[in-house]
Amino acid sequence: MLNKISQFIQCYFDTKDFIPLHEPNFSSTESQMLMDCLDSTYVSTVGANVTQFENEICTFTQSNYAVTTNSGTSALHIALLVAGVEQDQFVITQSLTFVATCNAISYIGAAPIFVDVSLQSLGMCPASLENFLLENAFISEDGACIHKKTKKKISAVVPMHTFGHPSDMNGIQHVCKKWNLAIVEDAAEGLGSQYHGQALGTFGKASALSFNGNKVITTGGGGALLTQDIQIADKSRHLMSTAKVKHEREFIHDQIGFNYRMPNINASLGRGQLSRLEGFLIEKRLLADEYRSLFLQSHYCFVDEPPGCRSNFWLNAVICEGKLHRDSLLDSLEKDNIMGRPVWRPMHLLDMYADAPNLALKNTEYLAERIVNLPSSVKKKR
Ligand SMILES: *Cc1c(COP(=O)(O)O)cnc(C)c1O
Repeated sequence: MLNKISQFIQCYFDTKDFIPLHEPNFSSTESQMLMDCLDSTYVSTVGANVTQFENEICTFTQSNYAVTTNSGTSALHIALLVAGVEQDQFVITQSLTFVATCNAISYIGAAPIFVDVSLQSLGMCPASLENFLLENAFISEDGACIHKKTKKKISAVVPMHTFGHPSDMNGIQHVCKKWNLAIVEDAAEGLGSQYHGQALGTFGKASALSFNGNKVITTGGGGALLTQDIQIADKSRHLMSTAKVKHEREFIHDQIGFNYRMPNINASLGRGQLSRLEGFLIEKRLLADEYRSLFLQSHYCFVDEPPGCRSNFWLNAVICEGKLHRDSLLDSLEKDNIMGRPVWRPMHLLDMYADAPNLALKNTEYLAERIVNLPSSVKKKR
C-alpha cells in the first residue's frame, strides 16, 4: 500500500522530483495584475486594489464586509478585539489547531481554554464545548459567562475549520447562544468551503481568513476580517490603520492602533488569485475524489467533508491506525521525495499553553498521533 500511495501521488503530479504539501499556483493573470500595480506606483497601503479585492471577497463569500490585513493572524487578533475580548478574560477554542489561533488570544492578554474536536469534522465539538461550560461556568446576573474557578469572564468561542472542513456551526451556534458567547471564526483554512450552503467566515461576529503562501489562495502574506455588521467593520478598519482619525491635514490618532493593513501590491496578487479560486476548488475536489478511492478499503481513513458541507479540501488527510502506522507512512513518503506532514502538536501540550483549563481531550490526542496530510496543490499546467 505504501508504494501504491507514492506511485499515485507521483503519477497525479506527473513528477519524480520533490512534491511539496501545498504550493501556490500562479498564471499570467496574476503577473498582469502585479505589473499593473507596479506601473501605478501604488504598492503600499493606499490603492484601488485593496478596496476592489475586499469587494470581490464579499461577492465570493456573500459577506457584507471584508477588511483585508497583512496576515491571517492579525485579522484574528482584531476579530477578537472587536468581538469584545479583553485582557484577563478567557476564550474557548480547540486544542487541535495551528498555534496562531492561541497566539492571537494571548496578544490581547486573554487566555485560551481548550475543548475537544469531533472525529468527523476535526473541528470544534459542540458537545465538548457544552460539557465544559456545564461543569465549569455559570451565567452571572448581568448575563456574562463566568469561569467558576477563577471568576474570570469567558467572552468568546473560536472554532477553527481544520484543513478547510467545516466545523459543526449549528451545534456551536446553539451552545454559544445559550451561554451568551460571541463566535469568532478562525476560517484561515476555509476560504471556498460551505456549511449548509453558507460560506465559512460568515458565521462569526467577526471571522478571519488567511492568504499566506500555503493557503487555498495567497497574497504572499495576508488575511481578511469578515463581518456582517457595519459598526464592527468600521471599528476593525480603524484599529488596523493606526486608529487614525479622518482629517484634511493633521495626524490625529484616538487610541493605540495597529499597522495591520494589506498593501496594495498584495491585494493585486490576491485579486488575480481570487479570480481563479473557482477553478482551484474544482481541481481540489477532483484530487480529493482520487484520494478517497485510493484509500477505500485500506487501513487508512480518508478525512472527508462532513455531511451537508462542501469542503475546499485545502489539505487532504488520512487517519492512520496508530503512531507507528503513521510514522511508516511519513517515512515512506519522505523516502520517495514526497512531502507528508503530521498534524500540529495539540496546543495543551505546548509549554506556553500547558496551564490552560481544558476538558478531557480524547479525540484531539487520538488524532494528534494519527493524522497525515498529503500533497494537495492545484496541479501546475505543463
Ligand atoms: C494559516 C493559519 C492562521 C494564520 O494565518 P497567517 O496568515 O499565517 O498569519 C491562523 N489559523 C490557522 C488555523 C491557520 O491555518
